[in-house]
Amino acid sequence: MYTNFLPDEYVKNVFQIRPEKLVARGVKGIITDLDNTLVEWDRPGATAEIIEWLASMKEVGIQVMIVSNNNNARVKAFCDPLGIPFICEARKPLRKSFHKALETLAIQKEQAVFIGDQMMTDILGGNRAGLHTILVIPVASSDGFFTKFNRMMERRIMANLKRKGLLKWEE
Ligand SMILES: [Mg+2]
Repeated sequence: MYTNFLPDEYVKNVFQIRPEKLVARGVKGIITDLDNTLVEWDRPGATAEIIEWLASMKEVGIQVMIVSNNNNARVKAFCDPLGIPFICEARKPLRKSFHKALETLAIQKEQAVFIGDQMMTDILGGNRAGLHTILVIPVASSDGFFTKFNRMMERRIMANLKRKGLLKWEE
């Protein structure tokens, strides 16, 4: 079961995910987590870099959608100015929101990537939904209580995977 926590790819931040690479792989849509993946969990809006990154995806015809476990007020306030679709209170790692996102973007799971910063919600859920998963290093240095708990569990899972020789990337 541990292998379900393993991302297909591991990058420092979303900016290392380049549009031309995705296009070459036939990707038509990015489904992404919001908090600590695109911006810090306590930053209300997108940074200039994120706006530029989103524009670079749009330019090559890649749609972007946010799937977040956070509430409507937070996610809507972030997404509306950018004009991108979202699902809030997504209950990741449950599969339902991932399927709904694919439906919204009208793409197959093979044409999507999912980006997130947490193994227990983002990566586990994305893998179970059959998406190509990309783990990023969390943007923020401070976390809320539940995220702290998840990170403690993550460290245990990581240690376990390392012992089994399943971790291919460097920290
Ligand atoms: Mg997150």
